[in-house]
Amino acid sequence: MPSTERYDVIIIGAGPGGYVAAVHAAQLNLKVACIEKEPRLGGVCLNVGCIPSKALLDSSEYYHLARTSFAEHGIKTGKISLDLPAMMARKEKVVADLTKNVRRLLEGHNIDIIQGTGRLAGADRVEVAAENDKSRKKDTRVLEAKSIILATGSESVALPNIDFDGKRVVSSSEALQFNAVPKQLGIVGGGYIGLELGSVWLRLGAEVTVIEMLPTIATGLDGQVGRKLQRVLKRQGIQFHLDSKVTGAETTAKKVKISIDCKGETESLSFDRLLVSVGRRPLTRDLGLEEAGVKVDPDSGRIQVDASYRTSVPTIYAIGDLIAGPMLAHKASAEGVAAVDCIAGLPGEVNYDTIPSVIYTWPEVASVGLTEEQVKERDIPYCAGTYPFAGVGRARCLGETDGFVKLIAHGKSDRVLGVHIIGPRAADMIAECGLAIQFDARAEDIARAVHGHPTLAEALQEAAVMARKC
Ligand SMILES: Cc1cc2nc3c(=O)[nH]c(=O)nc-3n(C[C@H](O)[C@H](O)[C@H](O)COP(=O)(O)OP(=O)(O)OC[C@H]3O[C@@H](n4cnc5c(N)ncnc54)[C@H](O)[C@@H]3O)c2cc1C
Repeated sequence: MPSTERYDVIIIGAGPGGYVAAVHAAQLNLKVACIEKEPRLGGVCLNVGCIPSKALLDSSEYYHLARTSFAEHGIKTGKISLDLPAMMARKEKVVADLTKNVRRLLEGHNIDIIQGTGRLAGADRVEVAAENDKSRKKDTRVLEAKSIILATGSESVALPNIDFDGKRVVSSSEALQFNAVPKQLGIVGGGYIGLELGSVWLRLGAEVTVIEMLPTIATGLDGQVGRKLQRVLKRQGIQFHLDSKVTGAETTAKKVKISIDCKGETESLSFDRLLVSVGRRPLTRDLGLEEAGVKVDPDSGRIQVDASYRTSVPTIYAIGDLIAGPMLAHKASAEGVAAVDCIAGLPGEVNYDTIPSVIYTWPEVASVGLTEEQVKERDIPYCAGTYPFAGVGRARCLGETDGFVKLIAHGKSDRVLGVHIIGPRAADMIAECGLAIQFDARAEDIARAVHGHPTLAEALQEAAVMARKC
């Protein structure tokens, strides 16, 4: 009979949702255990998501700049060549350092880190199975808690007619660690993961083709921004097959051949590697949800929660990629904090109107709030102001003049409803816009706030001025 250990909160999963929730709970003096099946903490985000992808995006951008732009700045570098193993080793070091930091953070807060696979064993119990290092058998222990937070995240979805084989047909995890630059890389799915990884391998020398079922890439973006992004990526060399559905695939030792259907026309394409990035699904397999009585949305597979992140079982909570909303790390972390606040009897909530989303292509794309299409659909009177980076001194100094800021304000109250940026360092600029929406700012507030000169943020200020003139 396994022994039982007791906690205030048990968290299953140590991704950005789970580990942030664990730290917040410990800071509120709760006794916390965090269960993680992988040896490294940090979840998808730190290990095979946000961080390794950004490390490669940054390295590949440097490589690209060295080859294409250094001469214009008067820098002579001789022959530039790629050392892919060194680039991968750097990425791995960034990931390793950050995941070690997370472990230190949890240990520093006296959180019990328990390695093993967690499964609900009732409303207040979790069974953890871990492989015994010596005997190689599964050891099981049972933990008990007043509250349990499920934070097990998500996994890549395969196409119905093509399974991942990890070599020719891969998910984003493998596309972050190819040992050679593919000559021809096919990407099924024109969402942010496909576009970011496509940008990495394009800059490193691959021929990149994106196949997207819908008529546009990165659906959900403000239309004007989405169209600009597609034009820029096409100019950089990415080929797009839109309105195109993959109908079949055939893999050989060296190639993967797919057939696509574009509005009734069939075409055949051949690649060295095929990245399938058509979405992610919540990782709820073997969590014991049904036995515990935790309800799941039958269409999306996401766990249903109320405004306090409570599932259909009042002692069990769920956050992050497991529940509705955008699958983003900062959304998961915000929900982790809010769920713990609710458990502790404090007011805990997330303002979903201010969650930014970013695509780390170059130029970057970042947005927060409503798009022009959404404002129109809701019949909200609005004024939109746009300002190009070409009109900003700092962008000219950088040699990065592609793109613009678009600010949408309420037509009557002047309240900021949304900001959409395509341009250099858009990811960093969007923070001010989220804050503006959080504080119910008017376009006039941004227009009157003195922005440093020369900065990229002056484009935002000018877009706010333009929105007031419409
Ligand atoms: C290539 C890629 C790039 C991305 N880039 C970004 C980005 O730039 N910005 C951004 O905001 N988001 C990005 N994301 C999305 C982001 O990674 C996720 O939204 C985020 O990690 C979700 O956090 P989470 O805590 O809900 O789950 P996860 O990060 O998935 O963590 C869940 C953890 O639970 C563990 N686990 C699962 N089942 C069990 C179990 N039964 N027992 C114990 N442990 C278990 C898993 O091993 C994992 O460590 C990216 C994703 C990918 C794939």
